[in-house]
Amino acid sequence: MAQSEAARRSGLWARVAGRTRALLQDGIRVLGSPLGAGYYEGLEELLIAADLGVPLAVKLSAAVRAGRPQSESQAQSLLEAAVVTVMSARPRDLVLPNTLACILLCGVNGAGKTTTIGKLAHRLKRSGRRPMVIAADTYRAAAAEQVRVWAERAGVPCFAGAAGGDPGAVVFDGLAMAQSRGLDVALVDTAGRLQTHHNLVEELSKVGRVAGRAVAGAPHESLLVLDAMLGQSNLAQARGFSKALALTGLVMAKLDGSSKGGAALAIEQELGLPTKLVGVGEEIEDLAAFDPPAFARSIFGA
Ligand code: GDP
Ligand code: MG
Repeated sequence: MAQSEAARRSGLWARVAGRTRALLQDGIRVLGSPLGAGYYEGLEELLIAADLGVPLAVKLSAAVRAGRPQSESQAQSLLEAAVVTVMSARPRDLVLPNTLACILLCGVNGAGKTTTIGKLAHRLKRSGRRPMVIAADTYRAAAAEQVRVWAERAGVPCFAGAAGGDPGAVVFDGLAMAQSRGLDVALVDTAGRLQTHHNLVEELSKVGRVAGRAVAGAPHESLLVLDAMLGQSNLAQARGFSKALALTGLVMAKLDGSSKGGAALAIEQELGLPTKLVGVGEEIEDLAAFDPPAFARSIFGA
């Protein structure tokens, strides 16, 4: 029997950031009563140890203190509420027109872009959209093949250019094909690049501009895919990529079992970009909309 959406979702969140959760839950238990001496300093240290970063740890600890909790459970509720309050207020749903929408994914090699494209194609198709995938990673011959395999799994068409071709031209032709077939979402997979490689970052800008010439308003979403396991080192990447593209959101891949799950909160805080999707495994179903209350509950426990 098919699992209900709610059960599936809670299952997904239970898998998130296992080690972060263990660290925080044990730590909070050890801290004991919020009326005890040194509670707030201890809480701050614990949040820093869980990769939330110093500014966020200080902010959250101060928010709990301001609520004057009298018991451990009150402190816990205040902490969960504070997380939700400090997170981005920008919309987390993908903002897609009903005509052809273009979603561009970028990030470093191995972050999880291609896997996310496959999962997202599946998710969009299931929600009644007609997606296609454009393989604009023309650097590695194997890259287009990997995209094709994911497109097949998701049951959506795939457009790939020749290896060594110009990624801008591939995107232009791919979008034209999507339009001629009456499809309504184009998911563009780009080659992995380091934010420090200026010519590649410039090329990514160009891919974005070319998409805009092919389809009005494109790309409608420019998502940076980050490997949650890399924790705070994702910040430098994100700053570099945001120079190339007007990023609209983040995808936090590999949040399952990550020891650095808390960094997801720090990164969003620092960048002011909403995390729209999280990857919680290697299978096609393992993609979830980011839900700050569920995330806070899953890492602080209740
Ligand atoms: P790309 O280079 O950015 O396109 O990265 P890929 O999509 O090829 O993914 C790199 C590796 O990370 C692959 O082995 C994926 O199976 C794995 N991966 C991607 N997303 C997730 C995730 O959410 N959870 C886990 N555990 N592994 C993932
Ligand atoms: Mg790839």
